[in-house]
Amino acid sequence: MPELQLKQLYDGFRDPRTVAELASQIKQLAAKLEEPVNVMEVCGGHTHTIMKYGLLQLLPDNIEFIHGPGCPVCIMPKERIDQAAALAQIPDVILVTLGDMIRVPGSEGSLAQFRAKGCDIRPIYMPLDALKIAQENPDKTVVYFAIGFETSTPMTAVLLEQAEKLGINNLLFHINHVLVPPAIDAVMADPETRVNAFIGPSHVSVITGSQIYQPTVDNYHTPVVVSGFEPVDVMQSILSIVKQKVEGRCELENQYERAVSYKGNEAAQQKVNQYFTVRPSFRWRGLGPIPNSALMLKPEYRHRDAELKYGERLPVKEIDDHKACQCGDILRGKAKPQDCKVFGRGCTPKPR
Ligand code: SF4
Repeated sequence: MPELQLKQLYDGFRDPRTVAELASQIKQLAAKLEEPVNVMEVCGGHTHTIMKYGLLQLLPDNIEFIHGPGCPVCIMPKERIDQAAALAQIPDVILVTLGDMIRVPGSEGSLAQFRAKGCDIRPIYMPLDALKIAQENPDKTVVYFAIGFETSTPMTAVLLEQAEKLGINNLLFHINHVLVPPAIDAVMADPETRVNAFIGPSHVSVITGSQIYQPTVDNYHTPVVVSGFEPVDVMQSILSIVKQKVEGRCELENQYERAVSYKGNEAAQQKVNQYFTVRPSFRWRGLGPIPNSALMLKPEYRHRDAELKYGERLPVKEIDDHKACQCGDILRGKAKPQDCKVFGRGCTPKPR
C-alpha cells in the first residue's frame, strides 16, 4: 500500500453537497426496502460523526442507527477500574493510563478522584510515554492500565517489547484489551436484537483487515461495510448497505479502501500475537461476560503482569451496572440512549 498522507483521509469527504447527494440516493433506494434497516455502527468514532454531522436527520425513517459497544472506555466494567484504583493506592506505584479513562467511575470513584486524594495517577497521550516515566522513576513501579480494541493493542505490544529490550523492569501491565468480533457475537446472540447490518470500525480494521467480519456476514446473514470516519464515508456505507438489502445480498464490503485492506497490518498482528493470548472471559459493561473477548499477557511475560504480581491486593468483586442502566438494551437496539432515566443523575462521567 503506498504511503498515505493525512489529508487523503478527509479531503473531499466532508463536502456537504456530496453528503446531500448521497442522502438523496439513499432516500430513493430505501423506498424499495421491505423491512427497516437497523445499522449498528460498532465504533464510537462513527457515532461521533453521525451526531456531529446530523446524519440521522438526513436519512429516511426506515433506516436507524444502533450505537454499538465499540468504545473501550464505555465498556469497561467497574471492577476493572476498582483494580486500577487499588493499584494506584499501593505505595510506590505510579499508575498510567490513556487520558480518556481517567474520568470513568468505578464503584469507589473515578481515577481522577483517586488522583485528587493523592494517588500518583498520570494520564498519558500514548503508551510509549509510560516507558519514559518508568525510566525517570527507577525506585517506583509503573503500572500501565492498558485499554483499547485491536487498534491500540499493537502499541502496548511495542511498549512491552521496548521494556524487555531496554531491561526496564519496573514497568508492569494491567491488560484490558478487548476484541470486536466476540462483542458482535454477543449482540447477535440475543434473539430480540434488532441489528440487521453493520458499519465496521475503521481504526480496528486498519490493523486486523476487513477479514475479521467475514464470519459476521456468514453467521448472521447481515451486510458489513467497513467505513471511514468522515460523513461522506458513512453515507456511502449506508448506501452500500441499502443496496445490498434491496438486492437481497449480504456481503462484506470495504468502503475505506484508502486505509484498510482485507488482511490488515500483518506486522502489527504479529507483534500482538507475540505478546498476547486470548483471555477465556471478560465482563463488558452492559453486555456482561463474553467468552474469548479480551486479551492477556502470554505466560512467558507473566513477570510483567500487575494482576499476578499484586493479585492478593486487587478487588475481585464484580460490580453490576446501576439497576436502571439500559446499556445492554441500547447496545442491542432494544432501547434508545434517551430512554435512560439515570444519565447525568445516577450515572455521570463527571467527578462528583
Ligand atoms: S446508566 Fe444510562 S447513561 Fe449510564 S451507562 Fe447505563 S445507559 Fe448509559
